[in-house]
Amino acid sequence: MSDVAENLKRVRERIARAAVRSGRQPEEIRLVAVTKTVPPERINEAIRAGVRSIGENRVQEAREKKEQVEPVEWHLVGHLQTNKVKYAVKLFDLIQSVDSLHLAEEISKRCGKLGVEMPILVEVNTSGEETKFGVEPGRAIELVEQVAALPHLKILGLMTIGVFSDDVPAVRRCFTTLRNLAEEIRRLQISGVEMKYLSMGMSSDFEIAIEEGSNMVRIGTAIFGPRQY
Ligand SMILES: *Cc1c(COP(=O)(O)O)cnc(C)c1O
Repeated sequence: MSDVAENLKRVRERIARAAVRSGRQPEEIRLVAVTKTVPPERINEAIRAGVRSIGENRVQEAREKKEQVEPVEWHLVGHLQTNKVKYAVKLFDLIQSVDSLHLAEEISKRCGKLGVEMPILVEVNTSGEETKFGVEPGRAIELVEQVAALPHLKILGLMTIGVFSDDVPAVRRCFTTLRNLAEEIRRLQISGVEMKYLSMGMSSDFEIAIEEGSNMVRIGTAIFGPRQY
């Protein structure tokens, strides 16, 4: 078995245990393998070992690799600049990092031209760190309402990156914030908005995220090893 396949097996076991701890079935948690800096051969190893969704951070890198990767679902998980939207809407099946009305308008416009509908997640900055992208929690609902009014895209949930810290309660608070926001949005029953996915949890914190309700984890290092830039 390749190291990627072995790592995946261990990650899946850990996902399963965390799911059971939080009273859910392992199959309810979607695994997105984050493949930034990972060459196509290794991505294909993961796909042969059962990965069905991959996440990339950069439009350009995704463009370069996509043809060499066996067909699966592609998610954009990194920050998206408005001038890259025209490429992004052709490459990705889900854009997880929508954090402004301006960006959403551009996606809507480009998808309108192509005659497609783009599923998106709204990224929330739950850690309050200035270096992170995402709308602040206090403005997330307003953004969801504004984006929901645009044609050619569909909000399917929320995404966040937890604080990078050994302080487990602090990490957990980020995920609780996102879950609470999703519940609040669900109660508002905004037309066209579905709170189907809570995308939270990476290699260092996915078990905490699942315990707090995540059903989509984005995992790179624990599958592919440390990144070589
Ligand atoms: C890189 C990245 C991940 C995966 O991080 P790991 O710590 O390697 O698991 C997940 N989400 C986003 C947005 C990322 O940029």
